[in-house]
Amino acid sequence: LKCFIQMKILVTNTDLNEALNGLSNIGFVPTMGSLHKGHISLIKRSLKECDKTIVSIFVNPIQFNSKKDYKNYPRNNKKDLQLLKKLKVNFVFLPKESVIYKTKKKSQIKINKKDRILCAKFRKGHFEGVLDVMNRFTKLIKPKKIFMGEKDFQQLYLTKRYIEKKYDAKVVSCKTIRDNKLALSSRNLLLTRKYLNKAKAVSKNLIIFKKKLILRKNVRHLVYQKKIELSKLFDIKIEYLELRKKRNLKISENFKGSKLFISYYLNKIRLIDNF
Ligand code: AMP
Repeated sequence: LKCFIQMKILVTNTDLNEALNGLSNIGFVPTMGSLHKGHISLIKRSLKECDKTIVSIFVNPIQFNSKKDYKNYPRNNKKDLQLLKKLKVNFVFLPKESVIYKTKKKSQIKINKKDRILCAKFRKGHFEGVLDVMNRFTKLIKPKKIFMGEKDFQQLYLTKRYIEKKYDAKVVSCKTIRDNKLALSSRNLLLTRKYLNKAKAVSKNLIIFKKKLILRKNVRHLVYQKKIELSKLFDIKIEYLELRKKRNLKISENFKGSKLFISYYLNKIRLIDNF
């Protein structure tokens, strides 16, 4: 006797309320779709740790600071749904924009001045948009745990602080999944083979560089030199390359408890990573 457990696709708030009513141990994995092994690792962790798992696919317009970037963001709902079904996810939340943003579309949330570093400095309004949609999702779904990737470390850092203060939900940090040292990302779909190889070489270079920082002090100038070197070597535009403390994202002068954060453009595609 076969037992078919159907994955439910939820589109409206009513769908959500009906499906989730009475459930107490919900794991939530927010995504913008075009799912890859990074997303899959988050989903598997939720399936393991929670009674029910809900994955959202929503390309959040208000977190994009360029219309073109929003328009070009890869979308593959059909393929994503097949994958989620295979993984035995319980619910997929696929809201239309009007379901999430009924009223005002500009975020009321403000990022502190001291948090306007790294991506917050270069993508005006981006994290305000992320926190806004995470706030809306958490209010609607009431998850016990939210699974997020270290790949987007600053997003994880800001969301964890914001959500855990306001809701009875835990934001769980998940390791970055890589292929040949390159962090998986939906945006990688926008790169040709040539640029993908370049991105892999940049990652490899930084992994080796980070090891060299062990036991060194006052590494700030070494990091600065590396930024110049990589820009020339790979002909890339680097927005930032900085060593910062994992705990509070303050600039760090030594390897311990720190990560190297990079953002750069490859053929007009913006990539971020941390090591
Ligand atoms: P996105 O669909 O890009 O908004 O990402 C959805 C979630 O997946 C976020 O929490 C990301 O940090 C996470 N994620 C994206 N890429 C990876 C990766 N390579 N490894 C682990 N998590 C990832």
